[in-house]
Amino acid sequence: MIIDCHGHYTTAPGALQTFREGQLAALKDPSSLCPGCNPAISDDQIRESLEKAQLRLQRERGIDLTVFSPRASAMGHHLGDETTSLAWSRLCNDLIHRVCSLYPDNFVGVCQLPQSPAAPPAHSAAELERCVTELGFIGCNLNPDPSGGYWTSPPLTDRHWYPLYEKMVELDVPAMVHVSSSCNPCFHATGAHYINADTTAFMQFITSDLFRDFPTLRFIIPHGGGAVPYHWGRYRGLAQDLKRPPLPELVMKNVYFDTCVYHLPGIELLFKVTPIENILFGSEMVGAVRGIDPETGHYFDDTKRYIDALALSPEDRGKVFAGNACKVYPRLGAKLAGRV
Ligand SMILES: [Zn+2]
Repeated sequence: MIIDCHGHYTTAPGALQTFREGQLAALKDPSSLCPGCNPAISDDQIRESLEKAQLRLQRERGIDLTVFSPRASAMGHHLGDETTSLAWSRLCNDLIHRVCSLYPDNFVGVCQLPQSPAAPPAHSAAELERCVTELGFIGCNLNPDPSGGYWTSPPLTDRHWYPLYEKMVELDVPAMVHVSSSCNPCFHATGAHYINADTTAFMQFITSDLFRDFPTLRFIIPHGGGAVPYHWGRYRGLAQDLKRPPLPELVMKNVYFDTCVYHLPGIELLFKVTPIENILFGSEMVGAVRGIDPETGHYFDDTKRYIDALALSPEDRGKVFAGNACKVYPRLGAKLAGRV
C-alpha cells in the first residue's frame, strides 16, 4: 500500500474561493456577507474537481491513499480575526470531510486550525477535537507563524502552544508544521516562507525540552524537512555545541520528514542522512510545483519516481510508503489495520 502523507484540496470548486472573498470583503463592509451563508457545492462538483486531478494522478502514479487537508496557502490565518479564521476553517474542514466521505478509500482528512495572530493556540483545540472525534480526521496542520511571514508568535517550543499540544497528545494525533501564504514581500510563499518555516521549526525543537515535556508529541516537517537534511552536519554540530543530546535522542523520536523534494539528488540526500524510520512518503500533488521537469520528462512532484529509483529494500520501502505513516498517525493505522 502507498500512502501519500501530504495533499491539499487545491482544486476545490470555485464557490469556496468566492465565499472566502466575500468573507474578507465583509471585514470592511459587514453588510456584504450574509451570516451563515455557506457556498453551495454539490457532490458532483466535488467529484469533478478530484477526478481530473488528484484521483487521476493517484491512479497514474500508483498511490492508494492521500492524507488530505485544506489548501495550505489559503488558510490565511493573518486575515481578519479569530472569528474569521474559525468560520473559514470549519467550512474548509467540512469540505474535506465530504471528500473523505465520497472517497473513503482514497482520502483521509487532516484539519486546518482556526489560528489567528492574537488568539492563543488553546482556542484551536476545540476545532481539532471536532475534526478528530466527529469527522474522523487523523491529524492537523499547525501554522508556526499565523502572522503570515512576520513571525510574531512565540517559538513552537514555548508554553504558549502547550494547551494545543495537550489536546494533540490526548487525541494521539500529529501535526504537520505548515505555514500559509506570506504577506511579507521578502518571502515568496512556497519558495521561501514554506522552506524557512520547516527549517526554523527544526532548530526550535533542538534548543528546547519540548519532547521531554511531551514524549509522545509528533510533528511532520514537510518539504523534505526544509534545509535540514542538507545541513544535517550543522544541526548535529549545533546540538553538540549547545550541550544538547545527539539528534536521534533529542528530536528524531518525535519529528518526521516527508518526501516533497522535487528532484532525485535531493531525495538521495534525504535518504542518506535521515533514519529510514523518520521518512514518510509525500508528494503534495496538486500543489506548489505543477510543471514537468524538462530534464526528466516527468512532473516535478511525482516524488514516487525518485524513491523507486533508490532501490530500497522491501522492508525499507514498506516503512516509507505506509508503515511509518501508520505509526505517526495511529488513527490511520487503526483504520487500515489489515490492509498495510
Ligand atoms: Zn503542503
